Amino acid sequence: MSSVACIFCRIIKGEIPSIKLFESEKTLAFLDINPLSKGHSLIIPKYHGKHITDIPDDHLLEVLSVTKRIARAVGAENFNVLQNNGRIAHQMVDHVHFHMIPKPNEEEGLG
Ligand code: 5GP
Ligand code: ZN
Repeated sequence: MSSVACIFCRIIKGEIPSIKLFESEKTLAFLDINPLSKGHSLIIPKYHGKHITDIPDDHLLEVLSVTKRIARAVGAENFNVLQNNGRIAHQMVDHVHFHMIPKPNEEEGLG
């Protein structure tokens, strides 16, 4: 299930370029185009759905598992996992995504 107009579905299909970190049958992880810190990643189910409540459990569970692996892979010791649902809750892209946002030490900058 994908949506032709959805930018994240287009990233999945390779129609829009991205820096991919992980890909499986159900899940894609790539770097955020406008990172809040170095390593800011987006982890998405390939299944198109707007809200977390639209995503089947097996897809959602793999996204969470990949989020964990991406945090480890980028060496994030301190980080936030963020997932927005709906405009009022700051969701701008209507395809479920988890942000993994490393929180660097002050000396590392970009904090
Ligand atoms: P939201 O506010 O919906 O939770 O976050 C959407 C995120 O998607 C933002 O952090 C934004 O920078 C990122 N984003 C939007 N368009 C693109 C894109 O075309 N490529 C990539 N890599 N990230 C995008
Ligand atoms: Zn989509």
